[in-house]
Amino acid sequence: MATIFSKIVAGEIPSYKVAEDANFYAFLDINPLAQGHTLVIPKREVDYFFDLTDEEIGAMQIFAKKVAVAIKEAFPCIKVGQAVLGLEVPHAHIHLVPMQSEKDMLFSNPKLKFTAEEFAETAQKINSKWVAE
Ligand code: 5GP
Repeated sequence: MATIFSKIVAGEIPSYKVAEDANFYAFLDINPLAQGHTLVIPKREVDYFFDLTDEEIGAMQIFAKKVAVAIKEAFPCIKVGQAVLGLEVPHAHIHLVPMQSEKDMLFSNPKLKFTAEEFAETAQKINSKWVAE
């Protein structure tokens, strides 16, 4: 059965898309730690991040780097933090979180609430800074 993230890639479940290429997809986390909190996933369905091939991890990290650059341009921050957890959704993903302080990376923090319009604007703002190549 397809994961919820595969359904997002297929457009069967809506998402606020930030960036996409042939192999990877980036979209806003629906329960963000900070405005601009983005998930980067491989289109190939693999549960555990470290079960991805070396080539996939390399290419995914380069894709995530470009997304992080776009996030930082759209939402000025000290740095974009990166984390891999994967305890909730069994489809490998990288969290990218714009940080104003270390506390912004605490996954036990209460999550932020945004309206659909705010999410759409946030995704659009990051996408406008996205450079594919
Ligand atoms: P993890 O598996 O890394 O522990 O957490 C999964 C993350 O995916 C959580 O931060 C959660 O908010 C996010 N998430 C779960 N389901 C959905 C969904 O349907 N859409 C989006 N955009 N994010 C989701």
